[in-house]
Amino acid sequence: MFESLSDRLSGILDKLTKRGALSEADVSEAMREVRRALIEADVALPVVRSFTDKVRNRAVGHEVLKSITPGQQVVKIVHDQLVEMLGSEAKPIDLDAPAPVCIMMVGLQGSGKTTTTAKIARRLATRDKLKVLMASLDTRRPAAQEQLKVLGEQNEIETLPIIAGQSPVQIANRAMTAARLGGFDVVVLDTAGRTHIDEPLMVEMAEIRQSANPHEILLVADALTGQDAVNLATAFDERVGITGIVLTRMDGDGRGGAALSMRAVTGKPIKLIGTGEKADALEDFHPSRIADRILG
Ligand code: GDP
Repeated sequence: MFESLSDRLSGILDKLTKRGALSEADVSEAMREVRRALIEADVALPVVRSFTDKVRNRAVGHEVLKSITPGQQVVKIVHDQLVEMLGSEAKPIDLDAPAPVCIMMVGLQGSGKTTTTAKIARRLATRDKLKVLMASLDTRRPAAQEQLKVLGEQNEIETLPIIAGQSPVQIANRAMTAARLGGFDVVVLDTAGRTHIDEPLMVEMAEIRQSANPHEILLVADALTGQDAVNLATAFDERVGITGIVLTRMDGDGRGGAALSMRAVTGKPIKLIGTGEKADALEDFHPSRIADRILG
């Protein structure tokens, strides 16, 4: 995903490290190039500005320019700022609440919500040995509940039996009751999506939130949709409130900048990334590892 940005930044920073002595003007020129590279990679403009300002301010400090290896110091500052922009620490799913802990998945249709619901449930069941129940609250698309059921069967995760005619809130309540009675540790609720954000969707999400009282509300956003994904996260956060983001299709060859802006624009952590269609193609989002990948 970050290949082209990575090539650009490596080129710019290699030039700096090869030069030996650096002046303030050299750093400013390099930051202009970094700025251009980030904008072309689709990083949100205010995030780019703040990033390059911070790097420049730290890099023109005397101890950096007067050091024996100023170029390498600047590279380290760029790395550290990238990590900061991405959220510093990895933020795994938080399950620190009385069982059954509810995770509510939200997002637009086609973003990978149902696939990610199953991926998360599978990971919690196999890696963390938790008893997990999945339930689809998508009553608009008849095939959606069936899709989750099939994924449950494939991955040996229990799904809430489908009862036709129930509302999303009724299904959510039934899922929480079933989980309590059945001794489940975690309930993952897959909610309905739309092709775009609309008022009824937001109202529905708020109602589900109110009745299920989820501990985590994870927005699933397609990393390939660029700035739309960032706007989506902002809108969902304002209306429903989210606790984190899962970026899907990180295996695609998008420009990647939106993924880089996500945390800085929304203030919400990217918790996980989807890296393929298979049930195990889910990874933790580690800011420092992503920064390493970008800087090669
Ligand atoms: P939903 O409408 O949001 O529930 O989306 P789905 O879960 O049905 O996913 C839509 C399509 O995206 C499916 O074909 C998935 O296999 C695919 N998909 C989901 N996550 C990823 C991912 O991380 N990478 C890739 N390449 N495909 C994904």
